[in-house]
Amino acid sequence: MKHVCALCGYVYNSDKGDLENGIAEETDFEDIPADWTCPLCGASKEDFDLVEDDDVADEDF
Ligand SMILES: [Zn+2]
Repeated sequence: MKHVCALCGYVYNSDKGDLENGIAEETDFEDIPADWTCPLCGASKEDFDLVEDDDVADEDF
């Protein structure tokens, strides 16, 4: 599942987590600590939107 930052377009992919910021792979967005912020622009979790479709390119497929 993916969530996209409404401010800068950064995509959080729950399959990959955010290792640079201490979020392990396969961490659901809802399980990320509330104080986590967008790695690119510093937006809070509340500024992220669920990506309903899979338009985002994914190299794994
Ligand atoms: Zn952002």
